Amino acid sequence: MCGIFAIAAKENIIDDLFLGTFYLQHRGQQYCGISTWGGDGVRIRTHRGMVRETFSKDLVGLEGTMGIGHTSLKDRQPIKLDSKMGEFTVAFEGNIVNAKEIMDDLKKQGHSFYSDADIEIIGKLIAQGDDFIDGIKRMAAKIRGAYALVLLSRGKIYAARDKHGFRPMIIGQRADGAVAITSESCSFVNLGFSILRDVKPGEILEVEDSTVKTVEILQSNLVQYCTFEWVYTASVASTIDGMSVDIARRNLGAALSKRYPVNADVVCAVPNSGIGHAIGYAQQSKIPFDHVFVKYDYASRSYTQPTQAERDREAKVKLIPIPAKIKDRRVVICDDSIVRGTQMKNDLMVKLRKNGVREVHVRVACPPLKAPCLYGVATRSKKELAANEKTVEQIRGYIGADGLGYATIEDLGQAIGKPLDQLCLSCWTDVYKV
Ligand code: SF4
Repeated sequence: MCGIFAIAAKENIIDDLFLGTFYLQHRGQQYCGISTWGGDGVRIRTHRGMVRETFSKDLVGLEGTMGIGHTSLKDRQPIKLDSKMGEFTVAFEGNIVNAKEIMDDLKKQGHSFYSDADIEIIGKLIAQGDDFIDGIKRMAAKIRGAYALVLLSRGKIYAARDKHGFRPMIIGQRADGAVAITSESCSFVNLGFSILRDVKPGEILEVEDSTVKTVEILQSNLVQYCTFEWVYTASVASTIDGMSVDIARRNLGAALSKRYPVNADVVCAVPNSGIGHAIGYAQQSKIPFDHVFVKYDYASRSYTQPTQAERDREAKVKLIPIPAKIKDRRVVICDDSIVRGTQMKNDLMVKLRKNGVREVHVRVACPPLKAPCLYGVATRSKKELAANEKTVEQIRGYIGADGLGYATIEDLGQAIGKPLDQLCLSCWTDVYKV
């Protein structure tokens, strides 16, 4: 997972670029980077770690009127290349499915690589173009997979979203004439931007003098928005492709309540990503919502740790049970998804049982996960997924719950308000259309 942000204005943008990138921290916490244009060249600085910790005292020299920012779980971005069109920096979110094939081809043409990162392939493909637009089109024609990218050259920003629309991308504008393009609209709110519109699948944009212009829309008859954005990945403050993440999660919770009603005393969430689902379940069922676990503010997001061992350790540390809310109560607990089930079994269920819970009914806001993501969201392997080895009843027994219910594919479509054929469902179907 990654987050990308781009901004252009008449005044110095560095503070807004810093904050706009910071508000995408939930999309990746291992690396971050900022690149700016200030009239005298394209500058770049990247760090290992999070935006606030690493950049808050390290913005001097990055002042400018245009810039791009990146947060990442995997690698340092943006990268900078010097090409026949001049120097440029580029950052992306997604995954190239046919990366090895393209890299082998480029090597045969005489290119050398300093890493195996997809962004280096993207940069080199773009650099082969007659100009940046041509380069992005050539890149798009070669790669299979998902991308949303921003590119900064001397005095221009380019942005592009893959023709299937996997990764979200949205344009904002501000009363002072500034424009911004970001992975998620949560970046806009505190910076005073209002949403102009989503970038269309296949759209290539050029930003010059704070004006956003569509230069091309690459055609495809297959749209595949990432369903997981609404279920888990995105911030509840964001609206993605016209649908509020918060409302989609409440709809999913309500669907779970209708599908799996139960007598209980309280509905709670695995915080934070289960909260919207739990509120929806509570509103539909009329069972009160309450916090039974609190997420310790200084713990990071477990799913975005790079290894399973780190994810497990972080998951255990982050949730603190509230004993007074648990003893002798029948609890419905809502989560976004179950990957291996080990957190539910070894952490949540242990904490609930130790504190004297009477019954635990688990409700999961998506169907059983069956397959890895090829499009840049999760690195889980097939064998890690509980649903590949166990039936729902076996998973219920394994995690030690009194009841377990999953949302269905149809629930996802209805909650998000999009036709199922426009949603990527590969996580659950193990069918890859791209
Ligand atoms: S496979 Fe799952 S996580 Fe990956 S793009 Fe599709 S819906 Fe999103």
